[in-house]
Amino acid sequence: MPELPEVETTLRGIAPHIEGRRVTAVERRAAKLRLPIPAHLAELLPGQSVRRVRRRGKYLLFACDDGTLILHLGMTGHLRVVPAGTPPGPYDHLDIALDNGTLLRFSDPRKFGTVIWTNGDPLAHPLLTELGPEPFGPAFDGAYLLHRAKGRRVAVKPFIMDNRVVVGVGNMYASEALFLARIHPARPAGALSPEEWDRLAEAIRRTLTDAIAAGQETLEDFLVAEKARPYFRVAFRAYGREGEPCFACGGEIRRVVLGQRSSYFCPRCQPDTSDR
Ligand SMILES: [Zn+2]
Repeated sequence: MPELPEVETTLRGIAPHIEGRRVTAVERRAAKLRLPIPAHLAELLPGQSVRRVRRRGKYLLFACDDGTLILHLGMTGHLRVVPAGTPPGPYDHLDIALDNGTLLRFSDPRKFGTVIWTNGDPLAHPLLTELGPEPFGPAFDGAYLLHRAKGRRVAVKPFIMDNRVVVGVGNMYASEALFLARIHPARPAGALSPEEWDRLAEAIRRTLTDAIAAGQETLEDFLVAEKARPYFRVAFRAYGREGEPCFACGGEIRRVVLGQRSSYFCPRCQPDTSDR
C-alpha cells in the first residue's frame, strides 16, 4: 500500500509538471473505485487551471480554479505524467489531459483509490476533518502524543497508526519507529514516559524522512508510464526480519500481531517494561 512517503514522493514527482497547467480534457474509464469517480469531471475540469498540488495525510489535493480534486491512492493506485496519446492499460482509470501535451494518469489495479471533487474547503471535507496532525507539522511532538495517550490502554503501535492521532504512520513505519525509539510495540500507550514519547515522535519523523529521501531517486519514474514503483527500497531495521539478528544487539527479531497487523521488534532493545 502506498504510505505517506510514497504519497509525498508522488506529489514531488508530478507537481512540477502539472502546476499552472490548464486542463483540456478528462477521460474516465471506470465509474467507480472505492467511491464513484464523479461523472461530471469531464464537463467540470476542462478550462480550469491546476493552481497547486499539496498533501494532507495520504490525500493529494489538486487546487483548481473552481474547487479541489481530492485523490487517494488506496491500496494499489499510482499517478504518472505521460505524453498525450500514450495508450491506456487495463488499470488506467482516469486521464486528465493538460495544455502542455501531457496526461496526468491515475492507475489502480485493485480499485480502492478515491477521486472526488469539492467546491468548498477541502480540509473541511468529511474524509479529511478527523485526520490528526501531520508528522512534520508543528503540532506533532512528544508532548502532544503524551497528552493524547493519557489513560489509553491500547498498545502503542496501533495507537500511533491511528490517523486521528497522527497521519501517515503505516504498519512498516510504525515498526521501524518503535525499534529506533527502543519501545516495545505492545506496551499500553498510556504507560509511556514523556522521554519515550519524545524519542518516538523523533523516530517517526526520522523514519518517514529516510523513506522520502529514498524516494527522491525515483522522481523521474513519474514520467515513465510503464514504471510502477509503489514501494521504495527502504532498508528496514526490524520490519519483515523475524528470526534475523538485530542490527543493534545481535539478538533475534521477533514478530507479534497487534490490531491484526504484524509488528517486528527486538525483545532486548525494546523490553516490555509495562505492568499490565
Ligand atoms: Zn536488539
